[in-house]
Amino acid sequence: MTAKYVYLFEESRATEESLYILGNKGAQLAEMTAIGLPVPPGFTITTAACLEYLEKGNKLPEGVMDEVKEKLAVVEEKLDKKFGDNENPLLFSVRSGSYVSMPGMMDTVLNLGLNDVSVEAFAKQTGSERGAWDSYRRLVNMFGDVVMGVDHAKFEEQLDEVKKARGVKLDTELGIDDLKEVVKRYKKVVKDNTSEEFPQDPWIQLQKGIEAVFASWNIKRAVDYRRINKLKEDAGTAVNCQAMVFGNMGDDCGTGVGFTRNPATGDKEHYGEWLINAQGEDVVAGIRTPQPLDTMKDVLPQAYEELLKVYDILEKHYKDMQDFEFTIERGTFFMLQTRTGKRTAAAAIKIAVDMEEEALITREEAILRVKPEQLDQLLHKQIDVEANLEVIAKGLPASPGAAMGKAVFSADDAEMKANEGEKVILVRTETSPEDIHGMAVAEGILTARGGMTSHAAVVARGMGKCCVAGCESISVSEKEGKFTVGDHVISEGDLIALNGNTGEVILGEVELIEPQMTGEFSTLMEWADEARTLGVRTNADTPHDSKVARDFGAEGIGLCRTEHMFFEGDRIKAVREMILSKDEAGRRRALEKLLPMQKGDFKGIFEVMKGLPVTIRLLDPPLHEFLPHEEKDIEELASEMNVPVDELKSKIKSLHEINPMLGHRGCRLAITYPEIAEMQAQAIIEAACELAKGGVDVIPEIMIPLVCHVNELKAIKDKVVAIADDIIMASGVELTYKVGTMIEVPRAALTADEIAAEAEFFSFGTNDLTQMTFGFSRDDSGKFLPEYVEKKVLPAEPFQTIDVSGVGLLVEMAVEKGRKVRSDLKVGICGEHGGDPASVEFCHKTGLNYVSCSPYRVPIARLAAAQASIKEKKGK
Ligand code: ADP
Ligand code: MG
Ligand code: MG
Repeated sequence: MTAKYVYLFEESRATEESLYILGNKGAQLAEMTAIGLPVPPGFTITTAACLEYLEKGNKLPEGVMDEVKEKLAVVEEKLDKKFGDNENPLLFSVRSGSYVSMPGMMDTVLNLGLNDVSVEAFAKQTGSERGAWDSYRRLVNMFGDVVMGVDHAKFEEQLDEVKKARGVKLDTELGIDDLKEVVKRYKKVVKDNTSEEFPQDPWIQLQKGIEAVFASWNIKRAVDYRRINKLKEDAGTAVNCQAMVFGNMGDDCGTGVGFTRNPATGDKEHYGEWLINAQGEDVVAGIRTPQPLDTMKDVLPQAYEELLKVYDILEKHYKDMQDFEFTIERGTFFMLQTRTGKRTAAAAIKIAVDMEEEALITREEAILRVKPEQLDQLLHKQIDVEANLEVIAKGLPASPGAAMGKAVFSADDAEMKANEGEKVILVRTETSPEDIHGMAVAEGILTARGGMTSHAAVVARGMGKCCVAGCESISVSEKEGKFTVGDHVISEGDLIALNGNTGEVILGEVELIEPQMTGEFSTLMEWADEARTLGVRTNADTPHDSKVARDFGAEGIGLCRTEHMFFEGDRIKAVREMILSKDEAGRRRALEKLLPMQKGDFKGIFEVMKGLPVTIRLLDPPLHEFLPHEEKDIEELASEMNVPVDELKSKIKSLHEINPMLGHRGCRLAITYPEIAEMQAQAIIEAACELAKGGVDVIPEIMIPLVCHVNELKAIKDKVVAIADDIIMASGVELTYKVGTMIEVPRAALTADEIAAEAEFFSFGTNDLTQMTFGFSRDDSGKFLPEYVEKKVLPAEPFQTIDVSGVGLLVEMAVEKGRKVRSDLKVGICGEHGGDPASVEFCHKTGLNYVSCSPYRVPIARLAAAQASIKEKKGK
């Protein structure tokens, strides 16, 4: 593209490049024009012009308006009307649009070009005097609000007054004279609030409209939206100037939105809503509740035919679900926008699988279509519909899932309460883009008005949040902080629950149940498994977690932490006795008591994971974590153990560490107290042998944590192996087991070749490895890391997504060094990163054998691993 600022729709197409220059809306208007859809003509002013405008302190770059004039003349020619003409006026919309759509976040002005004189000519031209005045009052309102900064509510007040005076409820019920009155009042609102007149010169309207849209890049809700959705700050918005078409000229007109598939469920159906005799935002604003699209069939059959064609053309062309806007002017159908539709995780999966089956996309494309992170929505607990629920209302199931929390009635309250750690449900008559920060922190959203494509519904689906919209039976008073339905009054702070799958609003606490993986979800997962080479295991310490993970497709346990078992029930007593013993004999006596319990734990887990490897980590935390710290608890323990309180206190004090994370923990414990590791090894191997005798296939892997020198590993491993081999020999079963280590200290990574001589496997403990590589304490970094990311010192929090260039380098190096010494070395990771899609991709690229993550993230890791394989194959 050449370095000009303005492009006619017919001068470009939608490409990865044009998206950034023309914005998504502009690029798709061009694309739709190119494929022959009925798009009113127009042109797009580039994002580059916006960035220059903002850079210059809100001043249009030179030449922009000249180019606008030039392109506008082409549109005039096409339509045989003239902008700014008092006889045959041409009207324009001025619309925002960045590289990704930010629904309702920036501004749009419609009907530009009308004034006191041309409104009369416009009435004649369209044959609808009412429609003309309706358009004019909308212009004054939008222009007053967007360009001149007058609060929209001030216009609403006047409209309400006129409606009240005429005794009508809907704006469609206002007559010509009423609308003239509204225009008069609106102009006065502008004058009173800005001491300026609403500008009568169409060219001034146009230029100011363009400038205001550029400036709206930086309004609060747009900035908030970009922050929440991690969008580019420096992309800018394009401006689309488009010839107006009118859905508000009578009952043979209308406007609506369509989705080529159901965005909540993914079902293939003609989904959408429309309003007769309406313009623009009326559909999404929830002012009148719109009608489902099939009602158009009887009212405007010809337009409906066109609509069906559009559904077909869009899907075939884009090969993805589209979300589009249309307007019908006097029976003629026009397309105003299309974009790839936002959808829930369930819908994303169904659409991907269905489209593969319809041969619209390949299997690999289907796998790439679903964002792994999005699966999280489906892996949360769901409302148990079998339970006895007190359903107080039912609205539209606008976005699925379950939410439970305290009712709040404003976005600010939602934010405040959420910051205090409360779970809240945002209840509003309807939401608007100003509520975005409250919606982002709420568990779920409930609105009294608006349809399936209302603001609340669209935004909630985008966020993967449960939403019940258009719940007409509730009456919300934001001011009083309550809503009523029937005899119920629900006040701020009352507990309610939403079922986004059914639209039910439930009073009080609800029972939640485990999610299930069925239908298209399991199909997609099967496809992912065929595509991936990276294994996926889970971090689990109990039979229950192991079962959940196995059901989600885990191929083994990558990390079983034994310390949690030490806290259960009576065990902590034996643990404390062990820690406080004066000598080895005492410790061994205490450990004897723990042995059968540990053995039981391991048997439970092995049983669930039969046939799959289970990596068990020997005791890791510093011992003082097991001791009491409260005076009262210390006294109690002293009397239980029959030792003087003072003696116990001084023992506890002696175990205190300044820097416990770098202290006496991990394998260092086993060096000092080998008997602990011995007991654990015995428990593991005895459990395995006993099950193996019963025919259960057990694959234990004993993992030694926090090794920094090969000698640590060797010393402990020799002990473990001696015990294990004795037990196996004595039991007479055939059992193979492995002994390996965690790589979580930089020195271990640096000397991985030496370590691999002793270790049969490596598991990267990337939490500790990150902590020690950066020198960031995991427990304290919450104080400064968010700021690091905000100020762009770091691209992301390294505990959430792996730091490829630093920590990643250590991982790569250790893998290479390790495999040089032991070519069949098994390598995995078991930090939080194992469930983070970007880190999973890194692990794939680095040639790890598996990642291990929490049970609920197993499907996410499976999909991320598959996507990493496919992307690699495609050479991206
Ligand atoms: P958003 O990005 O918030 O959806 P749009 O730029 O799409 O904003 O415009 C807001 C509303 O105005 C939409 O409902 C759109 O269909 C309507 N609109 C925009 N341009 C025109 C036009 N040329 N003729 C009729 N309606 C229009
Ligand atoms: Mg739009
Ligand atoms: Mg660790």
